[in-house]
Amino acid sequence: MVVLAVHGGAGGDGPWRGLTQADPARLDCMQRLLHDLGQRLADGDIDALEAVTLAVEAMEDEPLFNAGVGSVLDANGEVTMDASIMRGNDRSAGAVVNVQHASHPIRVANRVLHQGWPVMLVGEAADAFGEREGVTLHPNDRFITELRRAQWQKWKASTLRPGATDEDDEAVLDHDLEDTPGMGTVGAVALDRSGQLAAATSTGGMTGKPDGRVGDTPIIGAGTWCDDRVAVSCTGVGEAFIRTCAARTLAFHHERLGLDKAGQRVLDDVAPLGGRGGLIAVDAEGHVVLPFQTMLMYRGVYQNGDINVGVGPDWEP
Ligand code: ASP
Repeated sequence: MVVLAVHGGAGGDGPWRGLTQADPARLDCMQRLLHDLGQRLADGDIDALEAVTLAVEAMEDEPLFNAGVGSVLDANGEVTMDASIMRGNDRSAGAVVNVQHASHPIRVANRVLHQGWPVMLVGEAADAFGEREGVTLHPNDRFITELRRAQWQKWKASTLRPGATDEDDEAVLDHDLEDTPGMGTVGAVALDRSGQLAAATSTGGMTGKPDGRVGDTPIIGAGTWCDDRVAVSCTGVGEAFIRTCAARTLAFHHERLGLDKAGQRVLDDVAPLGGRGGLIAVDAEGHVVLPFQTMLMYRGVYQNGDINVGVGPDWEP
């Protein structure tokens, strides 16, 4: 059994309002990558680690997700990106924080993992390491889309709440861009033919985040976790996921409660700390969960040739 599951971020409050005009492009991106990479995983052409890396790269390239091109803007109006990746069998891990130029932050994290030590690189040094490892660097404005610039301008004009997420923009700023309900961070978890697990997460963070802010995405154990039993990628208000060590805590509960209850338990833990969001997880038996406690979460699964993608509470997009 092989499994590849992805998310493209969670967000929104209140009842599900249906797809937006931009959602078909997001769904199409997930559908295509699940089709291609799921098949390659099934054929044994790629392992779990490469599958999650390529899946996240594909979503970093899609401007409608908050990772790579299309990342949200920080307080300075620039893109600063975080990513992390972990492999289950040896718990090797790689993470990058506040990179501004790497075309694929998750590939830099992957190269950090392969190098073996250290686990985490920050800022310019992480970009420079990526370049040495063959990752293309772009000027920062190559990552900025009109949609994100417009969101940032609204955030800036509001002065309501530094660090607001896309989702908060929706709730607090009452903006009229129809296409901004979700947070848009991306992630992937996979189980390959040899039973190996891997997890990866990548993000631009939160709109208007202050200089130097680090969310949960690059923190191993908070936004991303993988051991030999379970792989986890989270999305949501990062500080609450850090304060609960969300991804690692899922692995802890998984032993006792099973995957379903463990996923729910983690979201119940982050909620009182203001941590709305969701997660995806797959275990070594091939069980998958994709729980969220927001209005929506972009998500999809390839499992033994079957592909399902969804946004709202139902699978049916
Ligand atoms: N967790 C991310 C962060 O806090 C945001 C997200 O998931 O959308 O940076």
